[in-house]
Amino acid sequence: MKNDPSLLEVLRQQGVSRRGFLKFCAATASLMALPPGMAPVIAKALEQAHRPSVIWLSFQECTGCTESLTRSHAPTIEGLIFDAISLDYHHTLQAASGSAAEEARMAAMKANKGEYLLVVDGSIPTADPGYSTIAGISNLEMLREVAADAAAIIAVGTCAAFGGLPHAKPNPTGAVAVSDIITDKPIINVSGCPPIPVVITGVLAHFLTFGTLPKLDHLGRPLAFYGNNIHDRCYRRPFYERGQFAESFDDEGAKKGWCLYKLGCKGPVTYNACATTKWNNGTSFPIESGHGCLGCSEPNFWDLGGFYNALSEPSVNTGNAAAFGLVAGAAVGAASGIMARKEKDNTSHAHQKVTVNDLKRGESQ
Ligand code: SF4
Repeated sequence: MKNDPSLLEVLRQQGVSRRGFLKFCAATASLMALPPGMAPVIAKALEQAHRPSVIWLSFQECTGCTESLTRSHAPTIEGLIFDAISLDYHHTLQAASGSAAEEARMAAMKANKGEYLLVVDGSIPTADPGYSTIAGISNLEMLREVAADAAAIIAVGTCAAFGGLPHAKPNPTGAVAVSDIITDKPIINVSGCPPIPVVITGVLAHFLTFGTLPKLDHLGRPLAFYGNNIHDRCYRRPFYERGQFAESFDDEGAKKGWCLYKLGCKGPVTYNACATTKWNNGTSFPIESGHGCLGCSEPNFWDLGGFYNALSEPSVNTGNAAAFGLVAGAAVGAASGIMARKEKDNTSHAHQKVTVNDLKRGESQ
C-alpha cells in the first residue's frame, strides 16, 4: 500500500541490520531460482517496495493449502504477513468475523483498487451458486467481484488451478478452476495438493520484489518451481537407470531404497519441485518416505487414478528418461492413470494421455 512504509523501513523498525537485509535478499534470490548476482537487484527493488495488499479467498477446499503456507520456512508466514504483505482478508487466518470481515474485504478492495493481489484456494462450484457461499455471497459472485479490480491472481492448490478433487467425476457441484471463470487477468497457478509452502511464498516474494509475476509454463505455473519433472531430480534415479525396482512396498528393493516406478510412481510425468525443495523445512518428500509420486500437481490427477499402477514397462540402462518405452501402450496407460496435460474446453479440463513428448518436455525447457 502506498502509504505504508517500505519493506526496508519495516525491517529497520524491527531492528534488522543492512547485513541481515542483504541476507534476506540472497535467500529470496535463491528461493526464486535466480542467480546470486540478482541479490543486489532484489535489494534495490525491495528498498522502495511497499507492502502489497493481499485478499485471500477460500472456496471449495480442505484448508490444506493454508495449512501448507503456515508451515512455510523461508520466508515465514509471520514474516510475510507482518513484514512483507498486508494480508487484508483471509477466512482462516483473520481475527475478524461476520460483517467486520466483509467490511475489511470491501475496504481493502476500495483502498487498493487495481493494485491488490488476489489469492484463491479451492475450486468454484457452478452447478448451483448455493453449494458454497460466504456471507451469503456465492463463490462465483465473490470471485468475479474481487477479481475485477485485482492486479493479478494466484490460484493456490490444484483445486483452484485445475479444479482438483471437487472437479473429479462425477463433479456434482460443477466445480471449475479460477481460469475457467476469470479470463481477463494475469493468473498464476501454484498447483499441488497441497502446494509446496515455499513455492507459494516464493511467488509472493517475486511479486513483492518485481511487481510482476514470474515466468510461467504452459499450464500457468512458475517455471522456477515447475520447470523440471520429479524424476529428473529424484535421488532414486540411479536405481531406475540400473533397472533396480521395488516390486512391493515391503520387499528387499523397497528396503534398499530402489526406484518406485513399478509401484506406480508418477514422478516421470509430474512437474514440481518436491525432489529439490522438499517438505517440512526441507526434510523429506513422499518418495523419500517410500511412497511413489501421485502426480498431484498435474490436472485431473484424481480422475486418472491408478496411483499404484506403473506408467508402463521402463526401458532401463539407457541413461535417458526420454527413452521410456511405452511398450504397454494404451492398455497400461489407461489403467495406470498417466498424468495428462491440461486441455481445456469452455468449462472443464479434459485430458489426454501422456506422450513421449511429455516425457521429453523437461529436457527441452
Ligand atoms: S520413477 Fe519415481 S522413484 Fe523412480 S526415479 Fe523416477 S521419480 Fe524417483
